[in-house]
Amino acid sequence: MAKLLEGRPIAEKIKEEIRREIQQHALKPVLASIQVGENPGAAAYVKSQFKLAESLGIDYQLHKLGQDTTENTLIEFIRKLNSDKSVNGIIVQMPLPGQIEYKKISQFILPEKDVEGMHPANIGKIVFGTAKIIPCTAGAVMELLYSINLDLYGKEVVVVGHSEIVGKPLSLLLLDKFATVTVCHIGTSKAGKLEAHVKKAEVLIVAVGKAGLIKGEWIKEEAVVIDVGINRVADKIVGDVEFEAAERRAEYITPVPGGVGPLTVTMLMRNLVEATKLQ
Ligand code: NAP
Repeated sequence: MAKLLEGRPIAEKIKEEIRREIQQHALKPVLASIQVGENPGAAAYVKSQFKLAESLGIDYQLHKLGQDTTENTLIEFIRKLNSDKSVNGIIVQMPLPGQIEYKKISQFILPEKDVEGMHPANIGKIVFGTAKIIPCTAGAVMELLYSINLDLYGKEVVVVGHSEIVGKPLSLLLLDKFATVTVCHIGTSKAGKLEAHVKKAEVLIVAVGKAGLIKGEWIKEEAVVIDVGINRVADKIVGDVEFEAAERRAEYITPVPGGVGPLTVTMLMRNLVEATKLQ
């Protein structure tokens, strides 16, 4: 049976590091959070970010804008926060109303205040291995791998999902550790090749959002399995990997919920502290 790779204990250690950093550098980090419209998903993120910020001594300032806010109004708002010296980090909550394209507006956040690590300048630094601010979920996956002291050098790592927020930055971070990285996506599935790639993975990371996409029998014996996916199935939250069957083959596996999730918001606060130090 695989050992469970849980996010909470790692998050606790990172929180301790954050508290130490804040104290050592006498920082007073301020995070400006923008929520456009009323969405239960965004409201839940805001709540958990606020709770964590409060416990770390971080000033969390929520700015609520109306559902019909235009892209230009939001960009103007971001510009104001960019030039406000008392603000160290800016986050725009997802999902956004249909009239606003996240990719477009995320470029207007100053790179040194971009706590989600999604500004092209921050993504670009990942390519050069110099990034201090890393997209939160990709950073969370790396922390899970570090927690088991896994030497990634030469390992066959398969990443399923190539989104800009998870799969793409993650594959670059893994490459930087000299892993042999294969990135699978919809094209891989449509070509009927997903199973073959997954079967050779010594480390498998799945970030798609489709329950049961990865069959338990595909998991290589002794593999490390990180399931980023979040799916609601019959009132239960499950990942993208068939957990029970995979658990019997893997050496380590993340539970869903309780694996990547609890770490992601902690990585946001770590990025904020890095951003505060950069300013
Ligand atoms: P996304 O932007 O929708 O990306 C999904 C990726 O999966 C895309 O690259 C897509 O390829 C690929 N894909 C779709 N169907 C596929 C298939 N049948 N076979 C192989 N690849 C396929 O989603 P995301 O934002 O990266 O999130 C992925 C999952 O992680 C979601 O369930 C999300 O809720 C979860 N998530 C969890 C956390 C956390 O903290 N635990 C954080 C972020 C996201 P194409 O784009 O080419 O179709």
